[in-house]
Amino acid sequence: MTVLPIVQVGDPVLRERARELSAEELASPDTQHLIDDLIETKRAANGAGLAANQVGDLRRIAVVEVTEGNPRYPYKPPVPLTVMVNPVVEPFGDETIAINEGCLSVPTLRGTVERAASVRVRYLDRDGKEHVEERRGLTAGTFQHEFDHLNGVLFLDRVRDPSTFATWEEFDRHGRAEFEREARAIVQRLGS
Ligand code: ZN
Repeated sequence: MTVLPIVQVGDPVLRERARELSAEELASPDTQHLIDDLIETKRAANGAGLAANQVGDLRRIAVVEVTEGNPRYPYKPPVPLTVMVNPVVEPFGDETIAINEGCLSVPTLRGTVERAASVRVRYLDRDGKEHVEERRGLTAGTFQHEFDHLNGVLFLDRVRDPSTFATWEEFDRHGRAEFEREARAIVQRLGS
């Protein structure tokens, strides 16, 4: 397994739509290696998720995994390793929540986006088995963020109030305490 370089905002590959894989392409050693490398790269960077666009590849694959006490997002509830191939993430219900997000491809900025509070996630795992799951709250936000990447969308595009942009350092200083209170309330109310 290899830790790959993470592509940064401004690289056009982050603005492209990743393409679906066939069953044969998913089973190929090359794609299975890519999945291993995505997991390794996400873990090395302490990310909550990583999409293939972010390592410069346009196969439609994203991984999500949050371990307890993630240093970037300590308030996020744990999510077991989920490898999503050809995923579809659909909101259900009308409720939205405000989530302060960051991104491994946008190293210096955080900002607040509106996300659907509940989503239905349909994907193939790395063995080609179909899964349909419901995700809520901050976890629903993480899945929407990764799905956006596969459609060439960055969280920057979804920030409605530009005054919420902050560097990670200034977010720690001025915004983190309040957002972590809100995040705990979201987790308590909606779970994951
Ligand atoms: Zn991202």
